Amino acid sequence: MSTTTDSKGQYKRVFTVLFQLTKKVNEGGALSDLLRMVAQAATELTDADSCSIMLLDDSGRELLSKASHGLSPEEEARISFQVGRGVAGWVVEHGSPALVADISQDPRFEAREEQEITIRSLLTVPLVTKEGIIGVINATSARVGAFQVEHEELLTYLGASIVKDIENARLYCLSITDSLTRAYNRQYLFQHLPQEIERARRYQSPLSLILADIDLFKRFNDTYGHLAGDFVLKEVVRLSKRQIREIDMLVRYGGEELLFVLPNTPLQGAVITAERVRQAIEGAEFPWSDKRLRVTVSMGVAEFHEGGTDELLLQQADQALYLAKSEGRNCVRTFEKPQANG
Ligand code: GH3
Ligand code: MG
Ligand code: MG
Repeated sequence: MSTTTDSKGQYKRVFTVLFQLTKKVNEGGALSDLLRMVAQAATELTDADSCSIMLLDDSGRELLSKASHGLSPEEEARISFQVGRGVAGWVVEHGSPALVADISQDPRFEAREEQEITIRSLLTVPLVTKEGIIGVINATSARVGAFQVEHEELLTYLGASIVKDIENARLYCLSITDSLTRAYNRQYLFQHLPQEIERARRYQSPLSLILADIDLFKRFNDTYGHLAGDFVLKEVVRLSKRQIREIDMLVRYGGEELLFVLPNTPLQGAVITAERVRQAIEGAEFPWSDKRLRVTVSMGVAEFHEGGTDELLLQQADQALYLAKSEGRNCVRTFEKPQANG
C-alpha cells in the first residue's frame, strides 16, 4: 500500500473522530459528558492506552482530573498535580506541550509512591484560552516512544477546537450551582422541575420531593459562629449527595433548606431516602477547630399526583416539613392527601 493511501486513511480517520465529536458537542450536555467525549476522541486520535482531561481548580494551583478514557474511576481519581509538579504541572507552568518518549529518562515524571508504573510514554498538551491555560489533555501508553510530533499536533488542534465549548459548559455549570455548597441553585430548580413534572405526567412515573431544613440553625450560628455554620452546611450537602442516586437532584432551596428531587420514586421510596439522609446527618460529627459539631435536620416528603403543579408540590413538601418541625424536629413527615368526605 502506498504512503499516499496511508495518509489518506489516516486523514479520514482523524476527520471522522473530529466530526463525530463536533456533532455530539453541538447536541449540548453537561461538562462531564463533554470532557469524557474529548478524552475518548484524544485516545482514538493518538492510539493511546488512555487519555485524561485535567482542569485547573479555582485557586489556579492544582490540576484535577475531570474525565478520562481507558482508566478506571479509581485510577482517574488518583491523578492530580500541583502546578509545577509532574509533567502535567510542567506543561501548565511553561505553556508548551510535553512529548515524553520514555518516562524513565525524564526527570519531570513523578510517580506516586503507591503507584505501579504501567506507562512508558506520555504526551501532554495545554488547553489554552485567551485568558490563559485552563488545563491539559494527557495521553499515555505502555509502549516506549508511542507518540510522535503529529500526535502532538492533533491533540493541540483538538484542544484548540474544543476549549471554547469547555469554557461555555463551565460557565453554564457555575450559573446553575450554588457557590457555597455546590448543590444546584434555585434558578436551576425552576428551569428543571417543570420538565420533571411533565415527564412524570407523560410516562405516568412517580416523582417525589424531599424538603429538608437544618434544625435550630440560628442558635447554632449564635453559638459557634457563622463560619462554622457555613462549613456545616457544606458538609451536610456533601453527606446528602452520597445518600442519593445519580439521577436525583439536590438543590439549595433557601439559606439552610435543601430540596431533593427524586424522579421515578413514589412517596414510600422517598421516605426511605429521607430517613437515610436524616440518619447520616444525625450520626455525623463535623470537625471544626477543637470541636466536633453536630446538627440534625427535619424533612417533609410529598409525591406528585395528576393535576398537580410544581408550585403545589413544593407547597405540599413545605407543609410536611412544617409538621416535622412541629412534631419535635429531627424527623421525616409526609404530606397526605386529604381524604374525600362521604
Ligand atoms: P428551625 O429548626 O425552626 O428551622 O430553626 P432555625 O433556627 O433553623 O430556623 P430559622 O428559619 O429561624 O433560621 C434559619 C437560620 O439559618 C438563619 C440563619 O442564621 C441560618 N442560615 C441560613 N443560611 C445560612 C448560611 O448560608 N450560612 C450560615 N452560617 N447560616 C445560615
Ligand atoms: Mg429554614
Ligand atoms: Mg432551620
